[in-house]
Amino acid sequence: MELAVTGGRVLLPDLTVERADVLVDADEGVVRAVGQDLAGDEELDASGGLVMPGLVNAHTHVAMTLLRGYADDKPLDAWLQEDIWPAEGELTPEDVRVGAELGMLEMIKSGTTAFADMYFHVPEIVDAVADAGLRARLGHGVVTIAKEAETAHDDAEESIAVAREFDGAADGRVSTAFMPHSLTTVGSDFLDEYVPQAREAGVPVHIHANETADEVDPIVEEHGMRPLEYAREHGLLEPEDFVAHGVHTTPEEHELLAETGAGVVHCPASNMKLASGMAPVQVMHDAGVSVGLGTDGAASNNDLSLFDEMRDAAMLGKLAADDASAVPAEAAVEMATQGGAEVTGLPGGRIEPGAAADLVVVDLDAPHLTPGHDLVSHLAYAVTGSDVRHTLCDGAVLMRDREVLTMDEDAVLERAERAAADLVQRV
Ligand SMILES: [Zn+2]
Repeated sequence: MELAVTGGRVLLPDLTVERADVLVDADEGVVRAVGQDLAGDEELDASGGLVMPGLVNAHTHVAMTLLRGYADDKPLDAWLQEDIWPAEGELTPEDVRVGAELGMLEMIKSGTTAFADMYFHVPEIVDAVADAGLRARLGHGVVTIAKEAETAHDDAEESIAVAREFDGAADGRVSTAFMPHSLTTVGSDFLDEYVPQAREAGVPVHIHANETADEVDPIVEEHGMRPLEYAREHGLLEPEDFVAHGVHTTPEEHELLAETGAGVVHCPASNMKLASGMAPVQVMHDAGVSVGLGTDGAASNNDLSLFDEMRDAAMLGKLAADDASAVPAEAAVEMATQGGAEVTGLPGGRIEPGAAADLVVVDLDAPHLTPGHDLVSHLAYAVTGSDVRHTLCDGAVLMRDREVLTMDEDAVLERAERAAADLVQRV
């Protein structure tokens, strides 16, 4: 079946905008053509709208939607230890499934078609991705500190097993990664033992790194080197690997990232909310580092909209560089589309023949998007998630005229309210 997305304007890979139709091969899940007067077996109306690549949320913990607004206004360390970890300790597989569904519903409604996720009870998340119709790179987050050796090994084994089992699931829409939680919560002996197993399994490694100063200092003190140098020593930073945050990074570390080809996921809202710091995004760009954009979990954001994240990235990038020309609109849009796809190794991020048919249509007919001097500026600074009219992933329509077709919206919200209330009771 061929689907013609007609009557709109299209954001091309070079970030120019052209009046064009997009022809999608719904069976193969690819874009066949971008051009004038294209006809398919079916039509999707994009008139008055901008057809753009689906957004890539390159770092999140999607099931944390159940903890949205549960604990706010605390620094990372206290927030994790006093609120988040105790609550997460009570999460059942069913809770994770419900939280993941809620997050995916929110992503579909705000124009995200692909995401990278680090969490636990991953088989539940795989099932939810399969049903929702999104694309994802999933992994089990490993923590080994303050654990008995056997429990720590079990956790690492599970991350490898999940990566092996589910790579290619959901008709190829699910990819996986080995996901040690961070350089300070996973011991170096575990990295030495398990990272080679991830290489053997052919999956990338995704890890939090250089998020706060408190996380950097112990590594420097104990090992006499910067965290990313330490990561490299222990087998990380292959071209397919990607680290979340990179807030407290040095020029030497940027050089290391650029040399190795490993990517960084910038999470500006989470970094601001937890007062973690300002990532030197413009400096990383200039050094040739691949950068994607992520929301991080809903508990530290508190939404999963990448339109908000683009705005935050552009704004915070200027403040960090003390330069209003830093992280321009184009850079923010690039990070949320092609950059995220490149960093996570997921298809998508561009609309051109042969590319994955992961795309969204944004309604431009709104007061806050008028006049239309520069649509890329609007995407970075003025569009909100609720301006998204249609969402397609892998050639399938997931949302049409704001109605999500793959999920029962009311039922998802109701289950989430109930699961969240039960969870808080137990904690
Ligand atoms: Zn995170």
